[in-house]
Amino acid sequence: MSMLAWIEDQRKMKHTQKKTIVASDGSQGLWTRCDNCGVILYVKHLKENQSICFGCGYHLQMNSQERIDHLIDIGTWRPLDEILSPCDPLEFCDQKLYTERLKDAQEKTGLQDAIQTGTGMIDGIPVALAAMDFNFMGGSMGSVVGEKITRLIEYATQEGLTLIIVCASGGARMQEGILSLMQMAKISAALQVYQSHANLLYISVLTSPTTGGVTASFGMLGDLIFAEPKALIGFAGRRVIEQTLQEQLPDDFQTAEYLLHHGLLDLIVPRFFFKQALSETINFYKDAPFKKRGVIPYGLQRPISFLTEEKLRRKWYDWQKTPSDKINPNTSFRTLLTSFQTIFDVIEDEILQKRLKTDNVIDDTLGLMSKQEIEWRFLAKKKEEQFDKKFFFESVINDN
Ligand SMILES: [Zn+2]
Repeated sequence: MSMLAWIEDQRKMKHTQKKTIVASDGSQGLWTRCDNCGVILYVKHLKENQSICFGCGYHLQMNSQERIDHLIDIGTWRPLDEILSPCDPLEFCDQKLYTERLKDAQEKTGLQDAIQTGTGMIDGIPVALAAMDFNFMGGSMGSVVGEKITRLIEYATQEGLTLIIVCASGGARMQEGILSLMQMAKISAALQVYQSHANLLYISVLTSPTTGGVTASFGMLGDLIFAEPKALIGFAGRRVIEQTLQEQLPDDFQTAEYLLHHGLLDLIVPRFFFKQALSETINFYKDAPFKKRGVIPYGLQRPISFLTEEKLRRKWYDWQKTPSDKINPNTSFRTLLTSFQTIFDVIEDEILQKRLKTDNVIDDTLGLMSKQEIEWRFLAKKKEEQFDKKFFFESVINDN
């Protein structure tokens, strides 16, 4: 081995060693520096202090898992769509292939994309929560982020949950081009149903930094918009605006305080009090007077809950293994699900709905199916009010 080759080898080894240390725990080591005042901070103590600088009180970035641990009651977090992962529709390549970038980010953060969604409790109140992760490619919003948020909003709409989205993002993901921009419209459309039809509460939490497409869509659509102190919130970067306007901008431009002063935010809450602020706000809204009951528009309703659907799926798998006389073994799951949805769509009677929402919901519904009661109900629906619904359904149940 020549001297040069040996030096090259050593350099490579050093490089890979350094890389593994960074990648193993997702942080840069034991110490870090405050972005605001430059004080050197011991990472362990900093994490215990919720990533707030000891020197100046600046709120440093938190990753999505820390956010969830900080906001959600212990042991109540239930993630949704964990395995949804991005692909590379444009076969994008800049200095590096997009697929490689994704792989690196996935290894570094242990996440599939720049967001975690799920349900949990805040001081005993059930909520749907999404937390973006800035460590995953700058928290950029690609198709997966958009899809996960949309699914979460739809879930919250069906289940009547309060929605909280913690934003931390550099904007839309340029590697997915127009597909990531479309997520803005998709999420906004889902939010329209959630807020204006179902009349549910959406709280948007803006953390540093929230910029680009996220600010332009769901970040600013909250019924209430909360932010952390001194958070950077804006659409285009400061330099771009200065060059376009040919003007000097104020020093605190695009900070949370500046936006609050100009009416774009509702509240700035320090991290220590965030959970309390959220739970108090939700409680306050719960008892608000003159509330209107929400209605999900026809076509967007989900007649049966996700839980029932899952139970039905499991039952269907069982039937595939051991055929039952209740159901034709050639029925596809989709057909079965559609017929179940039709039944629940037709049944509006609250008493019956309540009865069907028991543990035996699937057997009960199958009983209804085989008796052709549903066709009767269709006929009854046509005749409208001439039919005594309650009596009719009471007799159905009693027959069983
Ligand atoms: Zn500091």
